[in-house]
Amino acid sequence: MSAQLTLFAGTAPATTKKRARRIHPSVPEAPATRVPTALLRLADWILLNSSGGKDSQAMASHVCALAAKLGLLHRVVIVHADLADVEWGGTRKLAEDQARRLGVRFEVVKAEGGDLLARTVARFVKLKEKAEKEARDEGRDPATAKIAPAWPSSSARWCTSDLKRGPIRKLMTRLVAELGDLGRPVRILNCMGQRAAESAPRAKLTPVEVDRPASNGKRHVTTWRPIHSWTDVEVWKEIARSGLPYHEAYDWGMSRLSCSFCVLGCEADVVLAARLRPKKAAEYVAVETKVGADFKHGLSMRQIVERANALDAEYGELRRPPRGTALSGYIGKKATRKYLARVEHGRLDLAA
Ligand code: SF4
Repeated sequence: MSAQLTLFAGTAPATTKKRARRIHPSVPEAPATRVPTALLRLADWILLNSSGGKDSQAMASHVCALAAKLGLLHRVVIVHADLADVEWGGTRKLAEDQARRLGVRFEVVKAEGGDLLARTVARFVKLKEKAEKEARDEGRDPATAKIAPAWPSSSARWCTSDLKRGPIRKLMTRLVAELGDLGRPVRILNCMGQRAAESAPRAKLTPVEVDRPASNGKRHVTTWRPIHSWTDVEVWKEIARSGLPYHEAYDWGMSRLSCSFCVLGCEADVVLAARLRPKKAAEYVAVETKVGADFKHGLSMRQIVERANALDAEYGELRRPPRGTALSGYIGKKATRKYLARVEHGRLDLAA
């Protein structure tokens, strides 16, 4: 078990008092424009959120190509929220390499207070204390208190807010401070790689919206999802066009990146991840035991590991696939060979 897990065992996080947040009166309810070039021109900062995954990188290269045409690359910042060892190895380095090849500033942010596993344990301790106190207050036996699930889920997605959104908002504060007093709120165009094709909840997201919760007296944040309507094919074609390297987890067969084991991931992905990262899967099993709840709704990490072991026993250990395996499924082997040669030579064609 990681040092962070040990650190958090048995301690509940301290509660902090929230300050009232004021939004500048000039921040509108709805965006002034939805036209990509106008959104880019209006922005003081063009912040590209990168998980290092295929959608983020397609979004980043697409937006950088537009910004380059407008002469606005100097306003672009790629930000990666480092998830520590729960994300695939090399992800942070890859995001940095992508930013370098695109010729834009790169920032890494990281949440204080432990990774996803440490936080799940800390949350469990807090929820357990709360449930037991409620039981005692109502004259019930605290041992029978029902404890709410500690793991994140689609209805309690605290992992995203704690590990990504919160730290990225701190970066926004820094970026605003860098520009000094403009006599108006600093305009941040916060670009995300979310797509409608990923899931029903993401399909409901709007491509452009004013992010009032992220805005305050000093900043006006607009969220832009530039590739919201894109298909998988379009994403992979953009990767081929850009010549940016993508993470090898896709060649192994993963359909998504970010956390190796995502609470929202499909079964095929989490089983494959357990075959590729058995030690990390064992840490998740240990946390499941500690918090007394399954990692995913209806699918425990223990079951995931069993399925992974059964596949290893039947087919043997996974063998490294050729580079470009994922991409060639979309653009063919010949075009993939050209792409790989460009990646090798670090060549980029922003305007192509
Ligand atoms: S990848 Fe999944 S588990 Fe990880 S932060 Fe995102 S939603 Fe949460």
